[in-house]
Amino acid sequence: MFTLLNIAQPDTQQEAYRLLTAKKSNVILGGCAWLRLGSQTIHTGVDLSKLGLNFIKEYDTYFEIGAMTSLRDIETSVALNRWFSGILAKSVQSIIGVQFRNVATVGASVFARYGFSDFLTALLALDTEIELYQGGRLTLAAFVDMPRNKDLLVKVIIHKTSRTAAYLALRNSQSDFPVLTVAVSRLDGAWKIAVGARPTRAKLAAQAAVLLAGAGRDVPPDCLRQAAELAAEELPFGANMRASAAYRRLLCQTLVQRGLTEVTACR
Ligand SMILES: Cc1cc2nc3c(=O)[nH]c(=O)nc-3n(C[C@H](O)[C@H](O)[C@H](O)COP(=O)(O)OP(=O)(O)OC[C@H]3O[C@@H](n4cnc5c(N)ncnc54)[C@H](O)[C@@H]3O)c2cc1C
Repeated sequence: MFTLLNIAQPDTQQEAYRLLTAKKSNVILGGCAWLRLGSQTIHTGVDLSKLGLNFIKEYDTYFEIGAMTSLRDIETSVALNRWFSGILAKSVQSIIGVQFRNVATVGASVFARYGFSDFLTALLALDTEIELYQGGRLTLAAFVDMPRNKDLLVKVIIHKTSRTAAYLALRNSQSDFPVLTVAVSRLDGAWKIAVGARPTRAKLAAQAAVLLAGAGRDVPPDCLRQAAELAAEELPFGANMRASAAYRRLLCQTLVQRGLTEVTACR
């Protein structure tokens, strides 16, 4: 459990950012589900609950999800899950349990770029941008590759493209961290294949997506298999207590092929 010396509830994003950067050990508090596993001493915990960042807003061409929105809100949002083949709900529903998902926030789940993140993998396969207080607006794909720094994630923006998508993950046991996560999507001929829990943070398999783009609308099963093999070849995999790198590479091939098949089966 961490030790909190002070707690602040700023009224503006500007003040939240000022407090966050005032001392090295100051941190933003999301739902504290992850923070409480650590034992650090935090000088000032910056609670964002007065900033009105708990929302899912639907506009004509995009959704906005505030940083303080819970993973449970993502799971149960009818508006959000009418889109993207419902993969956002699918991606979060195996994370521990309902009470946990009521607490864990979108802002922390995205900003922290956890290697095992189910939600990050699903978002990466969609047309997603994020807004940082200091860093401004950028694509999620660019953010995922950026080095870590202190900033305040304000919201996530998902463009309402008519992507057909699939989400798959393998866990050794229910509610454990995933061994591998895969999200696949298609918009006309353009594919995105995101693979996470490698065990490092989710990454797009760019070469496999290019291979599929050349295959037209009715992608032959052979081509799906080749793309899945290429995804497993082009991405780096590592080992941890849950699986070896070699196992993850084989699993990637299988899950990506299943995801691609699911998407091509949707009309
Ligand atoms: C036991 C356990 C198992 C888990 N299993 C999974 C799993 O299987 N799959 C999965 O995807 N996730 C899993 N998670 C992660 C979980 O889904 C959340 O992502 C995590 O708990 C962080 O959410 P939180 O709101 O509790 O963050 P906190 O603990 O409050 O914060 C985590 C970090 O994010 C920072 N932060 C919070 N909000 C912001 C913001 N708006 N801007 C910038 N920085 C911010 C904090 O300063 C801190 O550094 C697990 C977590 C735990 C504790």
